[in-house]
Amino acid sequence: MKYVQGPLVYEGKAKKIYSVEGSDELVWIYFKDDLTAFNAAKKGLMENKGVINKSISDCIFKYLERNGVKTHLVEDIDSRNQVVRKLKIVPLEVVVRNTLAGSTAKKFSLPEGTPLREPLLEFFYKNDELNDPFINDEQAMMIEAVNSLEQIIQIKSLARRINFLLTQFFDAVDIKLVDFKIEFGVTSEGEIFLGDEITPDSCRLWDKHSQEKMDKDRFRRDLGRLDEMYLEVLNRIQKKWGTK
Ligand code: UDP
Repeated sequence: MKYVQGPLVYEGKAKKIYSVEGSDELVWIYFKDDLTAFNAAKKGLMENKGVINKSISDCIFKYLERNGVKTHLVEDIDSRNQVVRKLKIVPLEVVVRNTLAGSTAKKFSLPEGTPLREPLLEFFYKNDELNDPFINDEQAMMIEAVNSLEQIIQIKSLARRINFLLTQFFDAVDIKLVDFKIEFGVTSEGEIFLGDEITPDSCRLWDKHSQEKMDKDRFRRDLGRLDEMYLEVLNRIQKKWGTK
């Protein structure tokens, strides 16, 4: 085998990170079946979630790569494992919204489903102890989440481009991309790459016709049929976009 899994370096809520033997530039990611919400206050398990989410994320990252977005993806190992470029993760959850839902709908007491005239970009500081608070550009600079205004501008521009591409990607399979969260990282050469994952855990996805929720809100809100919906998302995107 081209890559050999090294020791565990970090265990997150949905993934385990291992080193790759003989490389300082790569890491090995294993997708778990665990489900968490509300900063891990609510916990669950969905059999095969790791397999489904990895397939969805791979398909999306490959699509983004084909469209010129630099992502961490290096090699598909198997149904749960992938090798990615090691990045210094920028501690910002970058959220893009096309339709109002979740925390921002609540904050302004506006109905979920309100369409937004322009995509809305928000930053949350990745810090579990602080409960991932909302922050603005200047606060991101103040806490040194980024090292320059230039990096903020680049991250915003990448997030908007990714939103444009993902909206088309999901629209082609009759899914409305309501909102999503992405994370970026910096390579040893100082370049910004897309990291983490893009899955129904990190997006709000509504069926275009029925408006039925096809994402982690089914777990957050105890709506049931979670596995059925995740599988439906995977089946639709594989049928349209294949596994290339
Ligand atoms: N999100 C995420 N991880 C988080 C918080 C949010 O992936 O820790 C995603 C969430 O699934 C949704 C988007 O980011 O697609 C916006 O979430 P929101 O701010 O509305 O927070 P929520 O009410 O879901 O906690």
